[in-house]
Amino acid sequence: MNQFLSRRTFILIPTMSILKTFFKPMQVLASSLASKEEWNLSKEEWKSRLRPESYYILREEGTERAFSSELNNEKRKGVFHCAGCDLPLFLSDKKFDSGTGWPSFWAPIQGSVATKVDFKLIVPRTEYHCSRCGGHQGHVFNDGPLPTGKRYCNNGLALRFVPE
Ligand SMILES: [Zn+2]
Repeated sequence: MNQFLSRRTFILIPTMSILKTFFKPMQVLASSLASKEEWNLSKEEWKSRLRPESYYILREEGTERAFSSELNNEKRKGVFHCAGCDLPLFLSDKKFDSGTGWPSFWAPIQGSVATKVDFKLIVPRTEYHCSRCGGHQGHVFNDGPLPTGKRYCNNGLALRFVPE
């Protein structure tokens, strides 16, 4: 029995460190590098621009508590901008009530977000972020309404709503 366990451990440890080598740098790169040079700010610069709770979401890929954002219930016409660099990301007519407690959209403004796969919960999820400043917005799932069938599950703290 002991021999069996130690052999398993022996196999498991190298596998885990190989996985870490592959996935860790990818995670760090995608959330901190902006596509536009002028938005490639240092940690300190971002900290001075953002409220601490928005910094945690946008720059550290945090997630706010469900039903904690006022934007979850926002039903007015308007545009949802990136809270990091103010790029328009979502139009209000693409917003829907997903019941999850996070502002949800079935499509972003074309070209405004970019995606990557993250492994924070072990199971791969598709993370998306602002295509200009690289700020983390949320995750996209395949259980949204038609016509796209996508559900962009967004942190309210990563957005700024501009009513029409
Ligand atoms: Zn941005």
